[in-house]
Amino acid sequence: MRRTPKGFRLHIGLFGRRNAGKSSVLNAITRQQVSIVSEIAGTTTDPVEKPMELLPIGPVLFIDTAGVDDVGALGKQRVRKTRQVFDRTEVGIIVVDAGQWNEFEDAILGELREREIPTIVVFNKTDIAKPQAAVIEKLKLPYVEMVATEGHGVFELREALIKAVPEGFINAPPIISDLVPPGELAVLVVPIDKEAPKGRLILPQVQTIRDLLDGDSYCMVVKDDQLHDALKRLKHPPAIVVTDSQAFAKVSAEVPPEVPLTGFSILFARQKGDLVQFVEGAMAIERLQPGDRVLIAEACTHHPIEDDIGRVKIPRWLKQRVGGELRFNTTQGHDFPDDLTDYRLVVHCGACMWNRREVLSRMMRCRAAGVPICNYGMTIAYTLGLFERALRPFPEALEVYHKS
Ligand code: SF4
Repeated sequence: MRRTPKGFRLHIGLFGRRNAGKSSVLNAITRQQVSIVSEIAGTTTDPVEKPMELLPIGPVLFIDTAGVDDVGALGKQRVRKTRQVFDRTEVGIIVVDAGQWNEFEDAILGELREREIPTIVVFNKTDIAKPQAAVIEKLKLPYVEMVATEGHGVFELREALIKAVPEGFINAPPIISDLVPPGELAVLVVPIDKEAPKGRLILPQVQTIRDLLDGDSYCMVVKDDQLHDALKRLKHPPAIVVTDSQAFAKVSAEVPPEVPLTGFSILFARQKGDLVQFVEGAMAIERLQPGDRVLIAEACTHHPIEDDIGRVKIPRWLKQRVGGELRFNTTQGHDFPDDLTDYRLVVHCGACMWNRREVLSRMMRCRAAGVPICNYGMTIAYTLGLFERALRPFPEALEVYHKS
């Protein structure tokens, strides 16, 4: 169970002062001693993550914002790390000593409300004091009274969590199963080149296969140089062909025009984020001018390889398209600039390791800053002139493209 990818887990953020008993709440609900660093004030910045199976919700990820407390001005670093947790939280738990609610908790609640994150308040240590009726009345939030060190209130907290699971988490768009009827075939094109990890497929490919199996359809996985022969062997055309974005041009030439074709990155743009906003972002490539600044954002930290997609290939294709130099900055992991206004475009990786909430949070920040955002694969399809074809399986997105 622990192997469920993080991006598929409900992210539950625990917020509160260091002495409010967040660790005890986490230990009580997971029934394990989760190792929360007992830090000297101000030294810890990294949140602690605990994956678990919380029935009947399924796989969840608790994120404890250890190191955030009300000491001093919260240090820039800690504020930044906490903000990143808000951006990926799908359900928030504020843990507070019963009777101690004040401006600090108000500020946390403000952040959660700004992002419309369902929130539960845990009034902890109710063996010492009871929550004030005026506070409960003011908050108008689901709350649980706990003595976490004794395990009291765990059942109630689980019940509250089950009720708080947001609709968007339960009804996130599927990866592909709605595009391939049961009993029909999808052909997945997976180049095995030097960028492919040794001995395995990458997460988006695996997740696409699983979604097809869940939808009772078939799939055939082929390398790009075997696609031609593989298609010739089929008695009936496939319901769709899905390709790695970097093989788009080659695959598009092989797949008959009447057969729907798209890319893994477009499937995941829809599943992880807002496909229409990504389409608008890709079309902003047309307005780029030499000298403009472009942000390349990658969700993972990895060592760039020769001819790296984010650092070499996409900058090269964009510069060719623009007909001049562009200025590129790169971010990795949960870091993302506070001020985006200097950028004319954000090009994001497929974010296969992330949950939908975090991608949508970034998209909201781009929208608020008036900066277009698209992803790697859509950038490739656009710069190669294959965008229209790759969007055909998605009528809503295609309409936005045609109206432009
Ligand atoms: S960098 Fe992005 S697309 Fe690549 S593996 Fe990480 S999350 Fe997935």
